[in-house]
Amino acid sequence: MPNSSNSITDLGVAAIRDGVAAGQFSAVEVAEAFNANVAAAQSALNAFIVATPEKAIEAAKAVDAARSAGQALGPMAGVPIGMKDLFATEGVQTTAASHMLEGFVPRYESTVSRKLWEAGAGMLGKLNLDQFAMGSSNESSYFGNVISPWQRPGSNAQLTPGGSSGGSSAAIAARLAPAATGTDTGGSIRQPAAYTGTVGIKPTYGRCSRWGVVAYASSLDQAGSMARDVTDCAIMLEAMAGFDPKDSTSLDLAVPAWTASLSGDLRGKKVGIPLEYRVDGMPAEVDAIWEQGIAWAKDAGAEVVEVSLPHTRYALAAYYIIAPAEASSNLARYDGVRYGLRDLPDGAGLQDMYAATRAAGFGDEVKRRILIGTYVLSAGFYDAYYTQAQKVRTLISQDFAKAFEAVDVLLTPTAPSAAFALGENVDDPLSMYLNDVFTVPASLAGLPAMSVPAGLDVQGLPLGLQIIGRPLDEQGVLNAGLAIEARAGFTAKPEKWW
Ligand code: GLN
Repeated sequence: MPNSSNSITDLGVAAIRDGVAAGQFSAVEVAEAFNANVAAAQSALNAFIVATPEKAIEAAKAVDAARSAGQALGPMAGVPIGMKDLFATEGVQTTAASHMLEGFVPRYESTVSRKLWEAGAGMLGKLNLDQFAMGSSNESSYFGNVISPWQRPGSNAQLTPGGSSGGSSAAIAARLAPAATGTDTGGSIRQPAAYTGTVGIKPTYGRCSRWGVVAYASSLDQAGSMARDVTDCAIMLEAMAGFDPKDSTSLDLAVPAWTASLSGDLRGKKVGIPLEYRVDGMPAEVDAIWEQGIAWAKDAGAEVVEVSLPHTRYALAAYYIIAPAEASSNLARYDGVRYGLRDLPDGAGLQDMYAATRAAGFGDEVKRRILIGTYVLSAGFYDAYYTQAQKVRTLISQDFAKAFEAVDVLLTPTAPSAAFALGENVDDPLSMYLNDVFTVPASLAGLPAMSVPAGLDVQGLPLGLQIIGRPLDEQGVLNAGLAIEARAGFTAKPEKWW
């Protein structure tokens, strides 16, 4: 049934779930349609590291059987999703896109993925990403970069789907999955969403359990949902979030009914525009879409207020000290003894095994971060770099706290440009890091933040707007996102070439 499967893969989370519940199509039909798209796009887009069509079918059969038996269905029942390959999945290879973990098959399930399966979702496969989630373009993956389904009109130059959750964003934009998990340490949900015309939300730090998520920078890492609209993101986030005693930083709070409370009515709300986010050299179009977003917020009834976040300009520098510092510590566990790769040259001792394993198992970007992190934590430089960066982090949090005395949410561009071409920044780590200029501050402060597609640039590529909220106010973020989404009317999708 080519027609019905074509239309099924254009549906989102809510539509699929409701359609399955109403008997318009079976969960197995849905899984088959997405499995077919995943297989057809793999060689062109490289969005998945491993496809698991049998898992998607197995979950779908369980949902169809439950429905026939008249049992209650979960909030994600019948929805097949992509799982970023940073989440440990029992019995399915989990690599963090690294050679180090190639062949590693966990004997346990991450809390977030387990919750999603319990909610009725099925797994289409493990999505490609930047190696250990370090990167902004997906080019640091050991398994080759993901290629964006978007192209500039009249050009077949390959573009980045963003990073690190670039497999997630590409799969959603290309209709290989209606939704996917992402993780965000400094922008890895929001920037790929912005580059692909999709929606992604990173909740407050601590909302989603980090248990079973391969660690990058533990004080920043946070899982979130990615989909094609705000409602679908809310549904999925609700299924993912919640207290987990296995993660000491997990928040012991009930998950609010975000979806049921969605409202795009911003009357009585104040939207802050941070002055310091007007950075030099930002393309005029990004500025224009931001202005457009301000007009939409007003149209939704909000009062728009300028606010100041004076320490914004130190955020990137602080982030690129703190994140590598934590990474250098987290990645010390990959030593050839317990996980994944072991390189044991003939006659080698323990130290040689460590060195050989780590030399072979980590890519260049990961090594760069480990070197920087080890340096800033070393006895002679700790105070000069790491302690300073932590102080800056506190100042950035205080800036936000002050701004949120005056406003309910903040509105900014998500990224300083549209998607760039693969290869364009790969040898220039600094320009790559600059991509994170608007996303990193909210990460340092642990705040909920999302990206919604707002329009296209002159080249026909998506641009996103970011909404940042108070701690625990995912509802405020989602509602402002809904207001923008309703006015942007973003329906563009990449023209199929794969
Ligand atoms: N691009 C940022 C980095 O490389 C953010 C990555 C992320 O959020 N995982 O660290």
